[in-house]
Amino acid sequence: MPAGAVVLGLAAIAAQTLPPSAALATAPVQQSERPARVAPAPPVDAFVEPSGATVELFASLSDGNELKQLLERTGADAKDSARASELVDDAVPAGIPEGTEVAVLLGQKTGSARRLERVSFKPSLAFKVTIGRIRTGDFKLARDGVNVDTRPRRFKGAAGSDLFWSLRASGVPAEAANEFLEAMSSRINVRQVAPDDRFDLVIDHVRAETGENRGGPLLYAALDRRNANDLTFVRWTVGGHTGLFDPTMPAQRTDGFARPVQAKVSSSFGHRLHPILRFARFHQGVDFGARWGTPVAAAADGIVRGADWAGGYGRQVRLVHSSGVLTSYSHLSSFAVAPGTYVRRGQVIGYVGSSGLSTGPHLHFEVRKDGQPVDPLSFSFARAPLGSAELAVLRARAEQLRGV
Ligand SMILES: [Zn+2]
Repeated sequence: MPAGAVVLGLAAIAAQTLPPSAALATAPVQQSERPARVAPAPPVDAFVEPSGATVELFASLSDGNELKQLLERTGADAKDSARASELVDDAVPAGIPEGTEVAVLLGQKTGSARRLERVSFKPSLAFKVTIGRIRTGDFKLARDGVNVDTRPRRFKGAAGSDLFWSLRASGVPAEAANEFLEAMSSRINVRQVAPDDRFDLVIDHVRAETGENRGGPLLYAALDRRNANDLTFVRWTVGGHTGLFDPTMPAQRTDGFARPVQAKVSSSFGHRLHPILRFARFHQGVDFGARWGTPVAAAADGIVRGADWAGGYGRQVRLVHSSGVLTSYSHLSSFAVAPGTYVRRGQVIGYVGSSGLSTGPHLHFEVRKDGQPVDPLSFSFARAPLGSAELAVLRARAEQLRGV
């Protein structure tokens, strides 16, 4: 502990152990003549005001950064920073969200750093956290709750000449407006939405009594179209993946896979000699000898779980379907979908390439059922990513959100 803090700590202990009269006796004469100016001693665990000059700073918590580092960066003493962070870890186990603004009050210098006096921030709209010094010199954490209204908010209106700006003009936060357009783009060209088509969406929303509010993700997104079929999406979690699902999609159809690429099978499922690694190994999928740039289609309706580089597989798209089925499309030259998107059977998800461990352009297509590779050519499964029971629950959720 820095020398200054030790002195203050001892002074605080001395003040506590002395009877009040003794404390008064040590006070300057002019103060005892005007007793009204002597404030009553605060409770032991109340925050104490720092003595001497202070510096107030504001910093925002960036991604992957911890409060301790943030405090040290502002110039706070390392031990003080560690102690304050410890208290926060216990009180806010979920962590402080990225971008949270932290107010830091620094006191007198202790070597190259400054004594940490107070830290405050709001990890959510519902409460504020303050860490400050008490009379013993140690830190105490206080949590102040605020009443919040967490009812989701619904927005409706005409699409107008520009759907995005119509959404924004009706009060939809930019992020939710983008999410809405992305969902609709998976089915239609959003530039061709008629001006009198109507949008209807529900977003997660938190409003504090202090007037602050924060818009969360899109829960429900619908487009009521005059001259075409309506589109509806509901936020839902399937197989650990959260995305926007269509409650009107058909349930359990067993018409098998769509062919992911228009090309011949060049290597089938099973044991073979690996063309590069030169040893016999189990080929966990099938290869299609397609030309570079040939479009690759989703074998079935699903959600994009990944579209990224996957080691020897190169650029890979992974889709999650119903009943624990996953498909993957490897060695792609480029992607046509982003993670989290809902894709339909036959929709283009990428293009054939030779990325990763590959001897030339081809598509390596794999199917896994409950984590185990199965022969894609012998596989047939439900077309929709949800079973009928799951769909019933999803439809009920859509009804519930339409009642907001
Ligand atoms: Zn292969």
